[in-house]
Amino acid sequence: MEKIKNYINGQFVDPISALWMPNINPANGETISLVPNSNAADVDQAVQAAHEAFPAWSEMAVEKRCEYLLLIADQIEEHFEEFAMLETLDNGKPLWLSKKIDIPRVVENFRFFAKYVPTVKAFSVRKGDKALSQITRMPVGVAALITPWNLPLYLLTWKIAPALACGNTVVCKPSEVTPMTAYFLAQILDPLPLPKGVFNIVFGTGLDVGRPLVSHTDVKLVSFTGGTQTGKQIEKDIAGQCKKTSLELGGKNAIVIAADVDIDQTVDELIKASFLNQGQICLCGERVFIHADIFAIFVEKFVHKTKKIIVGDPLHKTSFMGPLVSQDHWQKVRQCIAQRVKAGAKVLAGDETLQNDKGYYLRPTILSGLDQNHSCHTEEIFGPVVTVEPYQDEDEVVKMINNSPYGLCASIFCKDQDRAQMIARKIRAGTVWINCWLVRDLRVPFGGMKQSGIGREGGQYSVDFYTEYKTICTAL
Ligand code: NAD
Repeated sequence: MEKIKNYINGQFVDPISALWMPNINPANGETISLVPNSNAADVDQAVQAAHEAFPAWSEMAVEKRCEYLLLIADQIEEHFEEFAMLETLDNGKPLWLSKKIDIPRVVENFRFFAKYVPTVKAFSVRKGDKALSQITRMPVGVAALITPWNLPLYLLTWKIAPALACGNTVVCKPSEVTPMTAYFLAQILDPLPLPKGVFNIVFGTGLDVGRPLVSHTDVKLVSFTGGTQTGKQIEKDIAGQCKKTSLELGGKNAIVIAADVDIDQTVDELIKASFLNQGQICLCGERVFIHADIFAIFVEKFVHKTKKIIVGDPLHKTSFMGPLVSQDHWQKVRQCIAQRVKAGAKVLAGDETLQNDKGYYLRPTILSGLDQNHSCHTEEIFGPVVTVEPYQDEDEVVKMINNSPYGLCASIFCKDQDRAQMIARKIRAGTVWINCWLVRDLRVPFGGMKQSGIGREGGQYSVDFYTEYKTICTAL
């Protein structure tokens, strides 16, 4: 059985505790590798290595740092198939999906930031004939990069690439549930001439690795993606330390379907926006509001297509959905469905678990008929479960959408552009897509409002907070 190792100061090392945890393939319940159960002592070593590597790395010319990013991108592309396979084994996502979205976006993360970061300009402002202020951007220091299991390498590299390009050094803490692609990244990166200590990974749980990492006094920047409860805990743990922090958290995303849409085309889009990656994309819709005029016919078609979705072995090309990521998560999602059914929700599709193999499979589920204030409409499930409800007019739908502690994203399907824009402006969410979903452009800021996240700046690219502004004001 493969024992994963931590990657600290350019070395693969066992966890100091000499303890490992099983890493389970969710498609069959088998252990595929052992994940280090590291602790604060491993974190300390990694942070120390990153701290020592910081001065030289941050002073290196940005173009030179970005050459390393391009080398990494080339290596990932060369090992594309292996990355996709490891992600499928680890996470349960269909192999075709990993090849179509996750791994290409991983490569793009490195290539985009390698090109973009060197173009970030310094600027200056002159105060009459008195003074000239020069504004430049500075690397922050050691960055703690913590990520969830749903898009394991895509989210991690969306942090690693800009953090390194901007001159920070990093300690990564991938999800303990899906460690394989991050480990493989360390393996392909190891032979490259990247200076030791610039890139480090410590594997383990949130409690034993995540908490000591964010609280470490030599960590100057925390970039976290994960659940809202965890984000709130991190805020408490780092309170008073004045760290640069970005929290990308959960959501309860809404999708609006107007009366003028092409129904068949929109049903196809909705299937993806609801059930892609088993609904385990933070941007998936969980609440679908359909105009009352087309509610009956739209729901009939949506239910019909949903019942035809093939859920099965993620290695098979025909499987649109694979298993959920873990037994714990599978149980949590089933419990959510059961609670909602108990509260009176009608099950329009779904409700039976698949019995094939020992995997954590669940059929895509459509619920309807619960009060808007029920937790069904306000709490994130993060699985293949959506609710469908009718709405009468724009004011009503905006009110229902904003009746949520979250504000990550929303989608509006509507041919009338003016009406769509009007709804979009009123929705309190970080991203609103009109007639599309999951479109990604790394030049635009990404993140949530309300309890879906804090810390993004209105800068030109997604994770814009990696460098600090510095003003040097000289008297003339
Ligand atoms: P999680 O919050 O349980 O874990 C995320 C990461 O944080 C893991 O690496 C975990 O080990 C670590 N962690 C846990 N407790 C910690 C602590 N106290 N201190 C530091 N680190 C800690 O989330 P998850 O179950 O892995 O992922 C699912 C959640 O992530 C969902 O809520 C989903 O919406 C959210 N998510 C958000 C985005 C986004 O961009 N907003 C993207 C993907 C996923």
